[in-house]
Amino acid sequence: MPACLQQLACYRRIVVKIGSALLVARHSGLKTTWLSSVADDIAALIRAGTEILIVSSGAIALGRILLSFSSRRLKLEESQACAAVGQIELARAYADHLGMQELRTGQVLLTLADTEERERYLNARATINMLLKFGVVPVVNENDTVATNEVRYGDNDRLAARVATMIRADLLILLSDIDGLYTASPYQDKHAEFVPLVESITPEIEAMAGVTVSNLSRGGMKSKLEAGKIATVAGTAMIITSGKRFNPLKAIDKGERASFFCASSESVNAWKTWIAGQLSPSGKLVVDEGAELALLAGKSLLAAGMISVEGHFRRGDMVVVVNRQGYEIARGFVGYDAIDAYKIAGYRSDALSVLLGYSAPSTVIHRNDMVVVRA
Ligand code: GLU
Repeated sequence: MPACLQQLACYRRIVVKIGSALLVARHSGLKTTWLSSVADDIAALIRAGTEILIVSSGAIALGRILLSFSSRRLKLEESQACAAVGQIELARAYADHLGMQELRTGQVLLTLADTEERERYLNARATINMLLKFGVVPVVNENDTVATNEVRYGDNDRLAARVATMIRADLLILLSDIDGLYTASPYQDKHAEFVPLVESITPEIEAMAGVTVSNLSRGGMKSKLEAGKIATVAGTAMIITSGKRFNPLKAIDKGERASFFCASSESVNAWKTWIAGQLSPSGKLVVDEGAELALLAGKSLLAAGMISVEGHFRRGDMVVVVNRQGYEIARGFVGYDAIDAYKIAGYRSDALSVLLGYSAPSTVIHRNDMVVVRA
């Protein structure tokens, strides 16, 4: 790994994701000494010219302590009430600790719809870019008080990746209660080996993700790798490291254990970055080996390569393209309603108009509307 990669000041814009378990202790609440050490690290980076955005969890964990909820699982509306109480304290804590470093913070609460709908996405992006331009440290969380179970991020790993690609950050750091990726869950398998560098998130890498081990936070290694896919495809590198120590960002510079995920070297435009981060596909197209190779070579998806069609999507909806083994190859905006896509699956382009009774486009997904997620 080139030496510069581990020196955070080499990066222009960094998103730091902080998990609940790091920030909130089950009985005593907010870990203020730890937070102050993070604020110290952030101030040092900003002084060195790097822009920083924080995505912080902890609203629900903090709110449930403040409202004296027991350890039982919360109902949705209970956790939303906890988030309302916890978020305001969380924002105050960031404002206070970064304020001690003479840094100003701005709170940004996002829902899934804010990033899935193009116009709202552009609007959120403009606001965050403006905050960064003003030298403010944006503190982002999901707007848990209004997010519903069906339409929510649920974990801040993916939210952080989405925000990182939205603002074209060159690095995403996931501070976690685990110090990186292992070949298996180190909590369950004593032979699990640490993986320092991931050049591409292949199915083999994905298979290494264990189950969620922390009670306070939602995302396990699986959601971290999901985040990694969103980030790296769009050109944002990612680091997973432990936040369980003081000054966890300086620790990365000192060479403490961390897994580094390389960003894809292909330059991806803003439109494709948005497609890559879409989280709620409406359907799935299964394709054969020939189509898989064509997509990997940057071609459009044709009907002839489709084996089957799943889901109730409309023309213009986002769908994922998977191979016979079920691994996602690409995602993009489909040119047909599901019912028509089903009718033309496996047919050559010159047969489509006859099959459908109208002048049909030859591509099921045009390459300009598609992102290959597995290179
Ligand atoms: N948004 C949730 C909170 O602030 C946390 C989600 C997560 O754990 O990733 O409490």
